[in-house]
Amino acid sequence: MTDTIDAEVRDELRATVRRWVQREVLPVASDLEHADEYPAAIVEDMKSMGLFGITIPEAHGGLGLDLLAYIAVVEELAAGWMSLSGIVNTHTIAASLLMRQGTDGQQARWLPRLASGELRGCLSLSESDAGSDTRNISCRAVRDGDEYVISGTKMWVTNGERAGIVALAARTDEGITCFIVEKEPGPAFEGITVSKDIPKLGYKGLETVEMVYDGHRVGADCVLGGDAGLGHGLGYILGALEVGRINIAARAVGVARAAFEAAIGYAQERRTMGKPISEHQAIQQKLADMGTKLQAARLLTEHAAVLKQSGERADVEAGMAKLFASEAAFEIATESLRIHGGVGYTTELPVERYYRDAPLMIIGEGTNEIQRLVIARGLLKRYAIS
Ligand SMILES: Cc1cc2nc3c(=O)[nH]c(=O)nc-3n(C[C@H](O)[C@H](O)[C@H](O)COP(=O)(O)OP(=O)(O)OC[C@H]3O[C@@H](n4cnc5c(N)ncnc54)[C@H](O)[C@@H]3O)c2cc1C
Repeated sequence: MTDTIDAEVRDELRATVRRWVQREVLPVASDLEHADEYPAAIVEDMKSMGLFGITIPEAHGGLGLDLLAYIAVVEELAAGWMSLSGIVNTHTIAASLLMRQGTDGQQARWLPRLASGELRGCLSLSESDAGSDTRNISCRAVRDGDEYVISGTKMWVTNGERAGIVALAARTDEGITCFIVEKEPGPAFEGITVSKDIPKLGYKGLETVEMVYDGHRVGADCVLGGDAGLGHGLGYILGALEVGRINIAARAVGVARAAFEAAIGYAQERRTMGKPISEHQAIQQKLADMGTKLQAARLLTEHAAVLKQSGERADVEAGMAKLFASEAAFEIATESLRIHGGVGYTTELPVERYYRDAPLMIIGEGTNEIQRLVIARGLLKRYAIS
């Protein structure tokens, strides 16, 4: 596909998703969110629009589009309800691990069912003592003939219960290895148990769970990348998390846009001291800062996506986009709530949801403190004086 055709397809997909969000998501998002209810009908629509296979090649049943198309869709979903972007995110990370490191057999086995959404994917790296400290994972996979026996407890598995495959980091004799674990969706399957549904401040309607593996067996053919992948799992996952961080940045842009648009609309309607509050300079200063941060966040996110798509290493740029966009979303959501005054603090408007959803982007896919370390290390390497 040429760049022009790509851009046309991207714009068309964004417009389709935006119209669908306005029609099908916005009217129900707050009710579903407050009830912490899984949006089953919405997810079916997402499947039929191909949103579970945006970046998966057409040969494997996906839309075969690039990361720019992906972030456009993520922004639209998050502007409607941030949780929807969470439903596709770790799924897309699992798919991108298979696309980059999977053997031909692994790609043929799992990518088509991931692309259609028949199989949902998730990523299971974190443990209670291994969040930022990824090298500290203790989940083990022990070789037994043609199989591995997996034991350990994983934390923070978003989509873990409904997933049909888990991209799982576990320790083997060679180091940390990534396994593709296929399972039945549900609370228990052959030694895998969902031991806790973690209650959250926001990001509701989809599950983030603790999962226990108690002697679960997988074939040796489930090692991502085959024997060559043994001991390389952490590197593979950290590479895929660059896509995850660009996703988080795009999500933050979506939430920030929704919060900004709510504020700039309300500011023109609400009147105090005989005029719309948008005519008070104090409010104009806020709107100017919010709009500027939103635009900067989007440009950084697009730049990181273009770089990653080109095959260049993008850890610094993905980190910068995630860092800036998530902090901007948090600030914009807070300012939007303030501009709404008392009504912003009620559950009658979605502003309070943006305010609860925004902090996740500061923490997820590596906290912003960790992003700063990654960015600084990368910059010091680039600017090394000897
Ligand atoms: C809602 C939600 C969904 C998630 N979904 C997933 C998922 O699907 N899959 C998955 O694998 N994980 C998931 N995570 C886990 C997430 O990636 C971790 O929570 C995150 O990486 C932080 O790890 P931690 O919670 O252990 O915090 P810690 O690592 O304990 O950090 C605590 C604080 O110390 C700071 N800190 C830690 N180390 C350093 C350092 N070296 N220098 C400076 N500051 C430091 C941190 O920035 C933070 O402020 C999810 C988390 C949440 C909250």
